[in-house]
Amino acid sequence: PPPLQVVSYAPFTLLPSAVPRALFEQAYAVQQDFNLLVDAISRDQEFLERTLASTIKVDDFTAQLFRIHQQVLEEGLAQSVFLGINRSDYMFDCGVAGPPALKQIEINTIAASFGGLASRTTTVHGHVLRVLGMSEEAARLLPNNPARGLALGIAKAWELYGSPSAVVMFLVEEVQRNIFDQRCVENELWNRNIRVIRRRFRDVFEQGSLDGDRRLHVDGQEVAVVYYREGYVPKNYDQQNWEARLLLERSRAVKCPDIATQLAGTKKVQQELSRPGMLEKLLPGRSEAVARIRATFAGLYSLDVGEEGDKIAAAAIANPDRFVLKPQREGGGNNLYGEELRQVLERIKDSPERTSYILMDKIQPQPAINYLLRARSPLKASKCISELGIFGVYVRHGKELVLNEVAGHLLRTKAVEHADGGVAAGVAVLDTPYLV
Ligand code: ADP
Ligand code: MG
Repeated sequence: PPPLQVVSYAPFTLLPSAVPRALFEQAYAVQQDFNLLVDAISRDQEFLERTLASTIKVDDFTAQLFRIHQQVLEEGLAQSVFLGINRSDYMFDCGVAGPPALKQIEINTIAASFGGLASRTTTVHGHVLRVLGMSEEAARLLPNNPARGLALGIAKAWELYGSPSAVVMFLVEEVQRNIFDQRCVENELWNRNIRVIRRRFRDVFEQGSLDGDRRLHVDGQEVAVVYYREGYVPKNYDQQNWEARLLLERSRAVKCPDIATQLAGTKKVQQELSRPGMLEKLLPGRSEAVARIRATFAGLYSLDVGEEGDKIAAAAIANPDRFVLKPQREGGGNNLYGEELRQVLERIKDSPERTSYILMDKIQPQPAINYLLRARSPLKASKCISELGIFGVYVRHGKELVLNEVAGHLLRTKAVEHADGGVAAGVAVLDTPYLV
């Protein structure tokens, strides 16, 4: 039988959510700095090795990524063009006295999604507002088209690869649950006469090969750019898929992201960045960028074996509601909160296993009422909190950054009952910021 195909609408809020204008602008203003930072980390082999040393002893997935990273460096990189697409996520923290503060949740350096659907959400909310007789408010919604910005980055990398007949390959999931988001970016490329193919790791394993120049061919087509929308969690990989990943990383194709940039997005790296002096080292001579970045950091704490880790573990066990416990995982639904955090930390506090996690201060946004529309779910008013994401795109050619842009934004909103989880995890829904 043919595989079951179900089309349902992406979940969204009925109404746009209020977002403080100053924080929204702050998030835009710091994005090019974050692009520079991610790029700098990805090139700093020594920083990555030192930072991830304790993590890769206990976390097999990060260790496997790191092994590939080392392997490709040993062989020597075949490509000097680097394409980064990231999304920096924030919440508005009301936990401290004074006005709400912009605090970074994390930065996603691989498969950062919803740039496509976010390009359509404003139209939906504009329509809803007009139906409600609020056309003035509708006119105030900001235009937003991340798909275009992401495609411009991919197109730039494709152009620098320098082979007009080569294609862009979207590396997609085994079961494709977010294809329409990807199609928005894909169509922008077709409109620029750039051919796009969609393949899974399995297809690459079966049909992919490198020629003498390490040019990547899949099904007889030369691939200029590999855009990963898969490959960020352990369940994406079996032995064959790891082999396919290695093949891609060794190839001359531009990788978005390359494996070093994926590692730059780990929670452990995020935590190390918050140490005094670390940003200054990574971005020498850029004190203003450093200050803008640091202003968005929440408290982040290492659980490495030693006195520092012992202290913070004890503090979190005594006061679990002040913290979030995060493993080196992506995609939502992996973090631990409250009583569960306490129990897990109690169990692992004297074992090296604790170093596979980091601790973070829990952000406390102000909830607001909204309606979450999700296929086959009843509609009801919910107390909600929102998370703002800003898309960044950059291209480096050798030592030169030839493109460094902010591509647009994404607002996701969820009911307060859910401590964790994104849109793909079935918890958050798409939203549009209404600046206040
Ligand atoms: P993932 O890589 O799984 O997306 P995140 O760090 O983004 O991991 O965490 C997932 C979700 O958990 C976030 O979308 C947010 O809703 C919640 N969360 C994460 N960190 C915090 C925090 N420090 N305070 C409050 N909520 C958080
Ligand atoms: Mg996240």
